[in-house]
Parts: sequence; C-alpha cells; structure tokens
Amino acid sequence: MTVNFCKVGVVGAGAMGRGIAQIAAQAGSDVLLVDNQAGAAQRGVDAIVAQWTKLQEKGKLDAATQAALVARLHAADAVQALADCDLVVEAVIENLEIKRKLFLELESVVPASTVLATNTSSLSVTAIAAGLKRPEQFAGYHFFNPVPLMKVVEVVAGFKTERSVCDRLAAYAVQMGHSAVHTQDTPGFIVNHAGRGYGTEALRIVSEGVADFATIDRILKDQAGFRLGPFELLDLTALDVSHPVMESIYRQYYDEPRFRPSVITAQRLAAGALGRKTGEGFYRYVDGAAQVPAEPPAPQFETLPPVWVSPRAARRPELLRLVHALGARIETGASPSSNALILVAPLGFDITTVAAVDRLDATRTVGIDMLMDDAATKRRVLAGTPATRRDMREAAHALFARDGKAVSVIRDSGGFVTQRVIATIVNIASDMCQQRICSPADLETAVRLGLGYPQGPLALGDLCGPTNMLEVLFNMQTVYGDPRYRPSPWLRRRGALGLSLTHQED
Ligand code: NAD
Repeated sequence: MTVNFCKVGVVGAGAMGRGIAQIAAQAGSDVLLVDNQAGAAQRGVDAIVAQWTKLQEKGKLDAATQAALVARLHAADAVQALADCDLVVEAVIENLEIKRKLFLELESVVPASTVLATNTSSLSVTAIAAGLKRPEQFAGYHFFNPVPLMKVVEVVAGFKTERSVCDRLAAYAVQMGHSAVHTQDTPGFIVNHAGRGYGTEALRIVSEGVADFATIDRILKDQAGFRLGPFELLDLTALDVSHPVMESIYRQYYDEPRFRPSVITAQRLAAGALGRKTGEGFYRYVDGAAQVPAEPPAPQFETLPPVWVSPRAARRPELLRLVHALGARIETGASPSSNALILVAPLGFDITTVAAVDRLDATRTVGIDMLMDDAATKRRVLAGTPATRRDMREAAHALFARDGKAVSVIRDSGGFVTQRVIATIVNIASDMCQQRICSPADLETAVRLGLGYPQGPLALGDLCGPTNMLEVLFNMQTVYGDPRYRPSPWLRRRGALGLSLTHQED
C-alpha cells in the first residue's frame, strides 16, 4: 500500500506535534519536525525515538522496524526545509495571528500541490485560511492528546476547502491507525461541541443544590455507564483548560443557552482549585488519590408501609415487578390508602409538579428515576417533594436498597440527574445533526473515541427511547421555563414518530 503523503512536515514540536510526527512516521512517511525554539525539534525527535525504544523493549516493535522508523524521522531548523513536503501539519501555539503568519510563509515555501493543515482545537479553520492564496488546499486536522492513543482525528472543511483534500487527509488518518471523522468548520468541531452537555448540565444541577458533586458522579457512572463522572472529568482536564473552552464555545455560538457556562467553575478557577494537578479540585487529592466522601448507609426499617404506584409512572410494569420483588405490599386501588407510600416515576417533571397535578398527598410522595432499565443500572435514584415526610423518604430508601443495590436520595428537580444530563447530551448531538455539522455516524465515532462515552449520544438516546428523550425535554422546559431545554427539531421529529435518532430522511 502506498502511503497517502510520502513526505510530511510537522511544525511545532510540543505535545501534539510530537505525537503527529510519531504516527506519521509509523504510517510510512518521511517526517520532518520543525520548531522555532532552538533545539526543540531535536528534543522532539529524541522523545519520539525514546517512545519507540520503549515499545521495542516491551516486544511491540522489532529492531528492524525501529531502525526504519528512526531513519524516516528528522529534525529541521526552519520551515524552508519543508519545500518538498506533500503535507505540512501545524501544531504551534493556539494563536490566530501566529498561525496565519506561519501558513503564509509555508505557502511561499511549498509547491501548489502541497496540502496544509492546522491542528487548532478552537480557532476557525476558515479564519486561519483567510489570507492564503490556496485556501482550497487547506484544512483542519484536529488530533487529540495523547495523539498515538487517542485514535480519532477530526478533518475540518473550511469555507473553501476542496472535498478531495479532506478525503485524502481522512485516508491518511486511517493509514496512521486513526479513525477520521468529517466536520464543518463550526465552533468546537464535533468533539468539543458534543461534549458541552455533560459538564454544563452537571454543574447546573450542583448550582441548584439538587445533589453534591460526588453523588452526581456516582449516579452518572452507575446509572448511565460513564467511565468518569463529570466532576472527576473536570478535575482531570483541569479548570484552566475546560472553563475557557466552555466560555469560548458559548460566546462563539452567540450566547446559545445550551452552552451557558457556570459561575461555579469561574470561581474555582479564580481560586486556583484547578483539579488533580493542583491537588484540589472538586475532590481533594492525597498521593494522587481522590478523597471521595463516604455514602450514608441505607436506613433500616422493620415494617415498611404499603406502596401505591402511580398509574402514570414511567416503566410502570417494571416498577411494579421491582417493588414486588423487593417484598413490598402493593396497593391496587385507584387511589392510595391513608398510610401508603406514594411512588411516582416522572420523565422530566419534578415530583412536586406530579404530586400537585395528580392531586397526590405530597407529604407521602417519593419519585424514582425509571428512565433506564433497572436491570441495566447499578444505582437507583429517589427524590421527594419539599413536603415529603422523613419517614416516607427513608422507607422508600430502605425498600429500594433491600437487594443491596446502591441508592441515592437527591432533592427534587425536573428530570432527576440522569434524565437531565442524558437529555441534554442527546439534544445537543441531535442539533448538530440538524445543522449538518457532521453525519450521525461520524458524530457517534467522534464522541466514543474522543470523549470515551460508553456509546455515541444518538445511540444513548435510542437506548433511552427517542420519545422519552423528547418527553423529558418538553417537561423540563415547562418546569424551568429555560430555552436551554428546547428540543432540537431533529429530536422533536424523530421522537414524535418514535424513529431512531440516527434515522436520516430518504
Ligand atoms: P505546546 O505548547 O506543547 O507546543 C507548541 C510548540 O510550538 C512549542 O514547542 C513551541 O516552541 C512551538 N512554536 C510556537 N510558535 C511557533 C512557530 N511560529 N513556529 C514554529 N514553532 C512554534 O502546544 P500543544 O499542546 O502541542 O498544542 C499545539 C496546537 O495543538 C495548538 O493549536 C493546540 O490548540 C492544539 N491542540 C492541543 C491539544 C492538547 O491537548 N494539548 C489537543 C488538540 C489540539
């Protein structure tokens, strides 16, 4: 197989440039690494060679391959050395003027056929290309850190980029062992755009006092299968990186309410509580380990009250089977007896609204989140109304913890935690499809590989039920009166018809 680009120049020998140079050489290209700091390019080459030596020691690379790789990789002093490259990838500092200047210089050095690409993560590819003579030969090539391990790259089409250039870059990404996804030049491209929902909605839940950080992390890991909770993730990324990204995407979309950042991260950033790297973020770190507060034990009850389950509960047959299996006495009357625990399971509505609208006794009403299949989750989440009696809340907690499954009791909020966060993620992803920023398939690939979600956001929406997702958002919009929960037309149409969120019109 011939490699798509025989000679590749990489400008910027920092974390990203080194990674890109490494995988380009591994794909079979001759690679020249350039940096404007004296000695930096050679240090970059040495670091890459050290990586290959490590792989050889682990038996993952044989000596002949290692020697061939080393022979293909060289440091150069200046961009003039890149004159015979057929691809140049830029990974210098994230600054529009510096990148523009660099590409003007590169255009004067390389032949007209050379493809020029930027690894920018937040600047507009179109804006970088604005002064170029050949903007059709220019594209975004957005890798993730660390490049050899994060196996996805976003190929970004600027306003004038030729499709054939994007196709060639995508084919080359595959030769480098990566999956390529195509995206329009829009703020955050795919991954940083689709990733807005998780942290921002979790921060909003904290800001409302619905649950603390650790509880939200536990719920989203145990109920929705995320590898890291949103606050663990914010601590890992560090707030000096993630807060500016949240602000930038919000502003670039002209204050789109779905991306509204939180004052919580602004304040923590100002205080220097950046995350794992400063030893204090949402969690404290001792010897690198997060100090996670213990969960309160489930209350013990000798005799539980009878349970009446609302006829309008989500997954009602499943909820009835669960309550029965947990050994509760179930009331079957049209209305609850005077001492029954009243169970509701709304989608999007808060428990208070349900109790008020259904004329239930709010002092005995408790809600459970039944969005996900109980058998597929490791945690149940309950909430009462502000009037719910402690004995009723604790009875519900004791009942649902009877089989040893973890239970979180949170404050009343439209959509509990999982419904809110998943519906927000699914809605943002749906709107990206509606805007044709990328194909649904590329969106799923980019989010799984770039963000490490258990599945793509559209598949997650399908798992929860597109109609349920729509119901959650409609009802949350009613509860909060906030345009951030306005369902995207993509979700609205598919949800209304019960179609898969990946369904595309003929
Ligand atoms: P870095 O600071 O580690 O490296 C940048 C390198 O570029 C430095 O060695 C610097 O000396 C060199 N440089 C600066 N100006 C130069 C110029 N005019 N000519 C030649 N070399 C120059 O930065 P990084 O983390 O590797 O990021 C590089 C680019 O990749 C940025 O645009 C960034 O937004 C993007 N990016 C970073 C990440 C990440 O997680 N670090 C992820 C995706 C994209």
